[in-house]
Amino acid sequence: MKQAPRQLSTPLAVIGSGLAGFAASIFAIKRNIATVQVGNTGAVAYTTGYLDLLGKLDDAAGVVTDPWQALQALQASAPEHPLSRVGAADIRQAFAVFTAFLAEFGLHYSQPGERNLTALSPIGTLKPTLCLPATMLAGPRALAANCECVMVDIRGLKGFSGPEMVANLQGRWPALRTQRISFPDMATGEVYPEVMARALEVPATRVKLAELLKTLAGTASVIGLPAILGMHKPDAVHAELERLTGLQIFEVPTMPPSVAGLRLRELFEQALPHKGATLIPQQKVTSLTFDDSGATLALKDSYGDIRIHAQTVILATGRFLSGGLDAHPDGIQEHLLNLAVAQPASRADWYRERYTDPRGHPINRAGIEVDAHWRPLGKDGRVYNKRLFAAGSILAHHDWIRSRSGAGIALATAWQAVASAAQFLASATD
Ligand SMILES: Cc1cc2nc3c(=O)[nH]c(=O)nc-3n(C[C@H](O)[C@H](O)[C@H](O)COP(=O)(O)OP(=O)(O)OC[C@H]3O[C@@H](n4cnc5c(N)ncnc54)[C@H](O)[C@@H]3O)c2cc1C
Repeated sequence: MKQAPRQLSTPLAVIGSGLAGFAASIFAIKRNIATVQVGNTGAVAYTTGYLDLLGKLDDAAGVVTDPWQALQALQASAPEHPLSRVGAADIRQAFAVFTAFLAEFGLHYSQPGERNLTALSPIGTLKPTLCLPATMLAGPRALAANCECVMVDIRGLKGFSGPEMVANLQGRWPALRTQRISFPDMATGEVYPEVMARALEVPATRVKLAELLKTLAGTASVIGLPAILGMHKPDAVHAELERLTGLQIFEVPTMPPSVAGLRLRELFEQALPHKGATLIPQQKVTSLTFDDSGATLALKDSYGDIRIHAQTVILATGRFLSGGLDAHPDGIQEHLLNLAVAQPASRADWYRERYTDPRGHPINRAGIEVDAHWRPLGKDGRVYNKRLFAAGSILAHHDWIRSRSGAGIALATAWQAVASAAQFLASATD
């Protein structure tokens, strides 16, 4: 006999478990709004762990050093860009609340400041970002001061090369050199960042690694490592290695999926239920319908069908990689509700002639349209449903990769979407 679906009821349902979806749940917790979040695996595990706000403007030659000033320029040149539609005070608050939540669970970040920081990429290039995990902060500082530093290269680790980093950075950081080690008890074959990170949660491994680092440092007082300093509570692993070695240590993110991204995902998955939110991970919402009493989300896990009845819904399903948008020969569609998608007039206009065209490709600005309250529009140009809000990269009119604004868009728009949902819930109970 077929079992009846399990039923859940909630004031707010969040669909998507990328940065925007998780940020929305965190902001809802902050407002005491009970939340159910459903999300399939997504891009969060691929991130570097850096929280970018705005690192590049379309018409500017160089990188952005003052993102707050750049936001004003963006408002003038691209008023429809999601970041142009959020006030600086709200963006600051979104970053502050988000990073405070991470810190509460053992993952400290630098405070969002007035200027971008210069962060290191896995191949030794530099990128502007607003907030860095505390375990990575000593890198940009040592680079700025040209401190003598050893970048540790680990035998058997693919995609992270000490010599490549030194070669790419030699013009900016002449005092950087590299040395190769074998990770303790993993001397042969391939080694993986995630496995090393989990091994470093064992105190004896930390002691062995510290001995190696002390030996190779020579006269250097700063050591760079690929991001492997523990999966949970990396701040504690980092502090202990610094204590054991007497050296300043920093991490550099590795190629995706990097430990820095996995840490975020694991933290969210543990912290949200701890804070009272209901998280249904690794599942996809297969249908979303609305009636006068609210929204109904349908999904299925290994125990069977689930129905979530929600007063409000935040759609944070990302773009193509995550399945929020689908690209078809005749156009781009929003996957769940077939919402209106701002997109190039025809498929022939998706890409420019040259892959490296400095203007980017029009398809990377496709996304859904929202009104002033972050409510998606239907194909008729009207609000699809007054209970539905949207956040993150699924929104139209931005190319977050080019503007180095992935987390900025996710956090700022999640902040706004939750504020609008809260307003709706408050007015519904008046
Ligand atoms: C390789 C890489 C590196 C990055 N590096 C940085 C960086 O250095 N700094 C930075 O600020 N940002 C970075 N980002 C960007 C950042 O991780 C996010 O991708 C971006 O901010 C968009 O977040 P999002 O939540 O809107 O969408 P996504 O992260 O795409 O998340 C969408 C989520 O929705 C889920 N979903 C889709 N459909 C459904 C459905 N029907 N039911 C349930 N769930 C569904 C997906 O599975 C996914 O979990 C990087 C991204 C990538 C891919």
